[in-house]
Amino acid sequence: MTRRKFLRLLLYGGGSLVLTSCARRLEKAVTQPISAPTKRVRNWTPAYAILEEQGKLKEKVEQAYSILEQCRLCPRACGVNRLAGGRGYCRAPGKTVAVYSAHPHFGEELPLVGTFGSGTIFFSHCNLRCVFCQNWPIAHEGLGNEVEDEELAAMMLYLQRIGCHNINLVTPTHVMPHIVQATRLALHKGLKIPLVYNTGGYDSLEAVTLLEGIVDIYLPDLKFMDGAQSRIYTGGAADYPAVAKQAIKEMYRQVGDLVVNEEGVALRGLMIRHLVMPNRIAGTREFVHWVVKELSPTVYVNIMAQYRVEHRAFEYPKIARAITVEEFVEAMEWAKDAGLTNLDERSRALYQIYRGRG
Ligand code: SF4
Repeated sequence: MTRRKFLRLLLYGGGSLVLTSCARRLEKAVTQPISAPTKRVRNWTPAYAILEEQGKLKEKVEQAYSILEQCRLCPRACGVNRLAGGRGYCRAPGKTVAVYSAHPHFGEELPLVGTFGSGTIFFSHCNLRCVFCQNWPIAHEGLGNEVEDEELAAMMLYLQRIGCHNINLVTPTHVMPHIVQATRLALHKGLKIPLVYNTGGYDSLEAVTLLEGIVDIYLPDLKFMDGAQSRIYTGGAADYPAVAKQAIKEMYRQVGDLVVNEEGVALRGLMIRHLVMPNRIAGTREFVHWVVKELSPTVYVNIMAQYRVEHRAFEYPKIARAITVEEFVEAMEWAKDAGLTNLDERSRALYQIYRGRG
């Protein structure tokens, strides 16, 4: 597939705000060189391989699995013994891991997609359960199949074999121990690409701390800055902003700013996603200032325009519509004014197009 065809596919299959009449201009903008201050390196070894070399990865597997005996993988801290068949708020099993799909994904951030895609594994179930979830049959209803850790390891190796640049673990919080074990099994059979921890951000500090030296790329959402909003639009998680901010600070401490290889493909670092929502529900202005003040202006941030009225969002008047062009432009201007210097390339291109329409 040519780059031109590939970009068209991305645009036409993308979010509700992307207008096909803008496609030609956006394509031009995307293919223009950028000056994002991303560090490039030549030689790189995945964190989990270094940890195994140090003899510490096996111990991490044991520690992670012990959390499942009284589950506190996330702040809901259900305390059920998932290894004995108990199920908590997320409804996920513990002896096995439920997976919906494993395939290359070309709709993720460009440093993750590279040429051959991000090797995405969608896990069934979710500990946050937003009312506007785009994957609700998988996340809320648990669509998928239960597999052993050995099969999860085989999926990782398959994705690497077909050329994917990373293992992109979508909604990993409630299955973290299985991921750690499967990574070690796959490492022994040749896994050598980075893990992407693609989380909604509702992770316990204990779990994120345990992942130090295993995960190279953290890809958390920071969905809400106000607990009153997160209580309404997630499964009652009023502590979401505080928990997610604490987890993201720890992630940044571990991996720092984004580092890419000579082709611009991500190897290590923090990439934060923030979905712009109707009526300023997400607290975008607070979000961008928080990143600059508490982390750094150089953090990779994706201000996302693809909010859609999904699942039960139509029941909530304030989020029962798409975002407007003005809302997206306003969000990007807040980000620029706050001083963020490593904004996602496609978001910047979209911003330039929308601003040009005014
Ligand atoms: S991962 Fe699931 S069972 Fe464990 S604490 Fe969170 S919601 Fe409860």
